[in-house]
Amino acid sequence: MADPRETPAMQQYYRFKRQHPGCLLLFRMGDFYETFDEDAVTISRALGLTLTQRTEGLPMAGAPYHQLENYLRRLVQQGYRVAVADQLQDPKEAKGIVDRGVTRVVTPGTLVDDSLLDGDASNTLAAVAFIESGDDSHAGLAFVEASTGEFVVADCRADQLADELARRAVGEIIYASNADGAMPPRVARVVKMLGVAATGRPSWQFRVDEARELLKTHFGVTTLAGFGLGEEDPAIPAAGAALAYLKETQAGEVDDPAARREAAGREVLGFIGPMGAGVSAAEIGAKVASAAAGSTSRGRGEEQRLKSRRLALAHLRPPRREEASGRFVIDAVSLRSLEIERTIRGGGPRAASRDAAGDGTLVGLFLGVGAACCRTPMGRRLLREWLCQPLGTVEGILSRQKAVATFVEDRLLAEKMRASLDGVQDVARIAGRIALGRATPRDLCALGKSISAVSQLLDLTMGVAALAPQRKLVEEARGAIEPVAQRIISRCCDEPPAHMREGGLFRDGIDAELDEARLLQTDAGSWLAEYQQTLVNRYDLPGLKVGFNKIFGYFIELPAAQARRAPEELSRKQTLKNAERYTTPELRDFENKVTTAQSRAIERERVMFEDLCGEALGIVGQIASFGRAVAELDALQGMADRAVRRGWVRPEIVEEPVLRIHGGRHPVLEELLGSGFVPNDVELGTAAGHGPSEAGGSPASLALITGPNMAGKSTFIRQVALITLLAHAGSYVPADRATVGLVDRIFTRIGADDALHSGQSTFMVEMTETANILNHVTPRSLVILDEIGRGTSTLDGLSLAWAIAEFLGGAAENGPRALFATHYHELTGLEERMPGRVKNLHVAVREWPSATDPGHNEIIFLHRILPGRTDQSYGIHVARLAGLPKGVVERSREVLSSLAVHQGAGIGKSATPGERAAASIPALATRVAPRDGQLALFTEYINHPAIAQLREIKIESLSPMQAFDELRRIKLMTEQA
Ligand code: ADP
Repeated sequence: MADPRETPAMQQYYRFKRQHPGCLLLFRMGDFYETFDEDAVTISRALGLTLTQRTEGLPMAGAPYHQLENYLRRLVQQGYRVAVADQLQDPKEAKGIVDRGVTRVVTPGTLVDDSLLDGDASNTLAAVAFIESGDDSHAGLAFVEASTGEFVVADCRADQLADELARRAVGEIIYASNADGAMPPRVARVVKMLGVAATGRPSWQFRVDEARELLKTHFGVTTLAGFGLGEEDPAIPAAGAALAYLKETQAGEVDDPAARREAAGREVLGFIGPMGAGVSAAEIGAKVASAAAGSTSRGRGEEQRLKSRRLALAHLRPPRREEASGRFVIDAVSLRSLEIERTIRGGGPRAASRDAAGDGTLVGLFLGVGAACCRTPMGRRLLREWLCQPLGTVEGILSRQKAVATFVEDRLLAEKMRASLDGVQDVARIAGRIALGRATPRDLCALGKSISAVSQLLDLTMGVAALAPQRKLVEEARGAIEPVAQRIISRCCDEPPAHMREGGLFRDGIDAELDEARLLQTDAGSWLAEYQQTLVNRYDLPGLKVGFNKIFGYFIELPAAQARRAPEELSRKQTLKNAERYTTPELRDFENKVTTAQSRAIERERVMFEDLCGEALGIVGQIASFGRAVAELDALQGMADRAVRRGWVRPEIVEEPVLRIHGGRHPVLEELLGSGFVPNDVELGTAAGHGPSEAGGSPASLALITGPNMAGKSTFIRQVALITLLAHAGSYVPADRATVGLVDRIFTRIGADDALHSGQSTFMVEMTETANILNHVTPRSLVILDEIGRGTSTLDGLSLAWAIAEFLGGAAENGPRALFATHYHELTGLEERMPGRVKNLHVAVREWPSATDPGHNEIIFLHRILPGRTDQSYGIHVARLAGLPKGVVERSREVLSSLAVHQGAGIGKSATPGERAAASIPALATRVAPRDGQLALFTEYINHPAIAQLREIKIESLSPMQAFDELRRIKLMTEQA
């Protein structure tokens, strides 16, 4: 039997497979998308489809064509890349094999279809190209949002790559594969850390010459200098590779340098058609042109629609360089540990926000379903970006703050703005779909309605100084978009169909050809009656009738008696017993029109739809500006909305490295606990001209916060970080009053995050993160440390914590502002040793004698941060509250009190080596005598057999000599130990 893989269709299939390595290939055959071989096995598993065999030995699994979007979504969610091969020709017209081509490649980072995207989150493709110069290793970066055409380039030190990528909602990373096709280890590290999809690309696509040429050709320029990219700019390879990937995935165009060079001189933007990979631009252009030429003469279905996609990627904006200066950096670790976009225990940016407090993240607080601060997806995406990438200059922050303040102060304006924004849909992504030939009738109508809000936005922003930049954007776009909006609205009906397959988008009375086609469908009878009457009158043949039958179609009939008088214009069609049947060119025309009326109406509508899309395509730049203005206005009013709801205040932003927060709250916890949340103050850093601080004594830059577990230390230090971050994003902050000195970076070290560091020990993670902080901290940074030194032995931990606190508090003349929460109360001694640099804060606890547990105290955590130190850890109380069995709690109290007694003996000559080491830490000199419930740090090491022996001795039964012998024996024991 012939090899089933040798058939022409399968040859076509394998060609596409070769052109799209690493992709699952969905191959359209009739009403199904089929997959074969390993793909069939994979897909049947991933989607639960039945695995069959096309012919013996060729596994096959297929999905009905109308389920495509659904299956694509599920496959992409599972991390697959999928190439879709469509039929580019009506199979009935095909001579031999049906013309097929890969029309799109769906990958996690290049999604554009609404059904595959989350409206509230960006989905960015990141291209990474490493550049070595000497010992220095840099990464050139390009970020492209396929759905909106946003294109940003940047570069960073190779070791900061993860941080750069983490704050940008990256859905997929592309990189240059090694010669053996493997992922370079430094890419692998980042991919593992961030858990994003990654795709290797041919390394030549990252060559600077190739990349530069591709960019120039696509944007129709002779130099990239206008985009701020020098000839050898490190970002060029990444930008070029990103563009090549987009072309391949969105337009099915496999980048082929030879074809590109050939096309370069001829076409600026290029007709990038959806043809099969490997087809040159010239061929594509010819195919599209011929398809367009044939558009009116014959019906065009889905195949033609695919062919007519034009100017693909026209929405892609020229690359914009992102300046590193003027930015506030949050690294990947802090982004996670402060729970900006996702909670530490899971729930990604896409996790649905559940209630008013959102999903427990800062972003969720603004964008959660219950919060609904923003009215448009564009506003939501921008607000997310603002929170993940705050500003780094006083001017930048103040100007945003001013705009937010406008909406806070003028609630009427805010309400009107919200009402106007409610009418605006995701025009940024709709414009993208239009440019990629993937817009639906509903998209077009939504676009028309949305951009018609332009005049309302202009009215609302008139004379509002703080909103002038947004107004300018709208104003510039107005001239171009208003007429298009007008045309869309006046031509399209109010309830557009989901697709163009059956027409129904355009109103009656706007196009004669469409009206006629529609009229013919509904009104063929009256036309015929009218025509019959005309003929009767014209030829004076009262017996003449116009009729129709299924076999012969339309005819004019004369009784046999009148047939003799039939005029010459009537041509004979059929002779019956008693009658003759005729036709005329007019009637043939009519027949033609009626029988094709429906398809002509649909076709006409399709052409009109394409024309309107074409008009919209002509103004994508203006739509993008309008979209940008809407996003900004929405994000600004969203921030104001949040501020008003919880009484947040406008922070004062200053250059000096200070931080003064009064009545500060944790934004997310406050939302959950309401008035039950206890506000707290903090004051750090000295500002020139400022006297003694109000809270916490000296305005030192390092605060050590001690207090029992569960008292609220973490909450407090996180809230300080979040308030600082919000202030830098231009937002109001949850406090009664706040002055925030400019911060260049927030560093955090809060709890181990396994997701980020799988495979490393908790302590190693802790130390790696701390090393990063100490190596990169500047006097402008804010450092948040929670429980440093926990992951190792108590002594090691204390020693490390001590040295780290000392480093931050005093190594430099201007130490960073730092908050250090610790259960090592020994550290509180630093306040005396480093006066003016370090200060102690503690969390207040209220104690009273227990009624149910005689001899012990009940405690309440007041969550109030006060100056001074604590020497209690209340671990056993917390354990009791947590529900440890009563017996275990009792026993731990016994152990504790016995240990406490030993500790009371202090550290003498007989101290263990551990104790002797610890004693050399100056802090111990300041140790406070323990009270009930406090396990002093080193007592746990006094567990010597000599002590057990001592405990056994019954003094009253010993003679003095025996006592002396015992003493000698025990002393010997201590020396041998
Ligand atoms: P610690 O870091 O001291 O162990 P946490 O900061 O984790 O304690 O706080 C423990 C719990 O106490 C929090 O989950 C929260 O419910 C509550 N809490 C903390 N701070 C406050 C506060 N200021 N007001 C009200 N409740 C608080």
